[in-house]
Amino acid sequence: MNPESRLLAFVAAMTRLAQAHAGDEDRLVDGATPLMKELLAHDDWLPTAMAAAHPQHYQQHLLYGDPLDRFSLVSFVWGPGQKTPVHDHTVWGIIGMLRGSECAQRYERGTDGRLTPDGSELTLRPGELDIVSPTRGDIHVVRNALADQVSISIHLYGGNIGRVARHVFVPDSGEVKNFVSGYSNALAPNLWARSSA
Ligand code: FE
Repeated sequence: MNPESRLLAFVAAMTRLAQAHAGDEDRLVDGATPLMKELLAHDDWLPTAMAAAHPQHYQQHLLYGDPLDRFSLVSFVWGPGQKTPVHDHTVWGIIGMLRGSECAQRYERGTDGRLTPDGSELTLRPGELDIVSPTRGDIHVVRNALADQVSISIHLYGGNIGRVARHVFVPDSGEVKNFVSGYSNALAPNLWARSSA
């Protein structure tokens, strides 16, 4: 498969999956996992504009948004030392490392609202996946594992993540703020310029 066709092939397969298993998180995650592994097996398809870092903050470039908001695919681009706030997603998500490395620490939220670390920090390397969801653990903080290099992970979510109402947390106080991430890019890549997969 030529590099330009990989993203289109992924989106086509994901659309079929979303049609077959609408609303069934387990079957969607099970079906999407091998598609993500295949997409991440080659680092030759991500358009340069979607791999661009920002000097101050991490970037969330929308690669594809399902017209029916059943899924979205985003490239997260981490500049050296950049990290997220502690946040949740409220929909399922599969995170796959494409380039470089990132570290993720999960949190549990107690009945008093305070957050405590859940397990030790996980390091993702190219080709490796992590899964989040309200039923599998949904709160984490993520950072670039590399102090001197850009890292890129590809995130698949079970909704239009840029528009989803979610939360950021202050771990010690348990303070919660509403949060809608949006996207860094104004335009999505043109998936329709080529007709053959
Ligand atoms: Fe996240």
